[in-house]
Amino acid sequence: MTFKNTYVKLTIYYVLVIMSISLVFSFAIYRISSRELNRGLGKQATILKQSPAEKYLPRVDPDFEKIIRTQFIESRNKILSQLIYYNLLILLISAIGSYYLAKKTLKPVEEMVDAQNRFTADASHELKTPLAAMRTEIEVSLRDKNLKPEEAKDLLQSNLEEISKLEYLSNALLKLARYQEEFKLDFQKLALSEIITGAYEKIESLAKKKEIEFQNTIEDIELKGDKQSLIELFVILFDNAIKYSPEKSKVYISSQKEGEKTIVKIKDEGIGIKASDLPYIFNRFYRADSSRSKEKVNGYGLGLSIAKSIAVLHDGNITVTSQPARGSEFRVKI
Ligand code: ADP
Repeated sequence: MTFKNTYVKLTIYYVLVIMSISLVFSFAIYRISSRELNRGLGKQATILKQSPAEKYLPRVDPDFEKIIRTQFIESRNKILSQLIYYNLLILLISAIGSYYLAKKTLKPVEEMVDAQNRFTADASHELKTPLAAMRTEIEVSLRDKNLKPEEAKDLLQSNLEEISKLEYLSNALLKLARYQEEFKLDFQKLALSEIITGAYEKIESLAKKKEIEFQNTIEDIELKGDKQSLIELFVILFDNAIKYSPEKSKVYISSQKEGEKTIVKIKDEGIGIKASDLPYIFNRFYRADSSRSKEKVNGYGLGLSIAKSIAVLHDGNITVTSQPARGSEFRVKI
């Protein structure tokens, strides 16, 4: 609705600009042609007056001048009506063209606003869920007159878990906002091994808990990038490899140089991703059904979109190949 109004407003502005130019030109054309017409007819009269035949003709009577004058007014009116006709035509064409142009100009803005609205709606929905859970638990406990201290402790424990979820979510949302295109990174020369080790240290305890072995065969590669954000990117991918893999499985990390770019592959033996989910997993809040249904797999579907934003900021990308029930391979190019 708001956009429809904006289309109309923009169309009016475009038409106003076009019509102002057209009117200025029309006015100039009208003035020049009237002057030229006047001069032309005046010249004609002079020639007639001076022509040899004139000597034998009676003197130019006032009617002759009247005829020239009428001719001038007629021609001037003709020019005027033609100019009005063409201006109306320009008005019609410019109105249609401007509406089309206004729609085209505003389309990317409209898409961006739509995406932003969807994001806000998704984010508030996800924030509301833990809050609603906490509220219900607290209300039920407050109504219970015989609430025992152990029960109260359980309640607090459960609330603490919900608070952790909220914290995780707000952190992820902040990161996502931070890694938007405008964000300035601190680019330095880095050793790939330094980044991979830094990321592994952060998820080591999770890997050990599930007895997942990380096999690291990365090469000694130097690259340019922002250390903290690159560690963040690999933490997300390692964390997913652990989350979506069975216990005692393996994760393989390898690297290679491709021209100026560095490729890092993270291959797991996990649940894999269905072909129908693959195009969407980098979208914000998207979670494949398999990970949603398994309540134990925590997440909000924000990790991969953060990872992708970081890769894009490094002039790179992330691609994935996967086979359900066999595993996935994420390929980071930076
Ligand atoms: P989440 O918080 O749900 O893990 P992500 O954005 O990191 O969010 O991932 C989006 C979805 O992609 C996940 O919900 C999951 O369905 C799928 N996915 C990501 N990594 C893997 C993986 N290594 N194995 C299987 N599925 C994965």
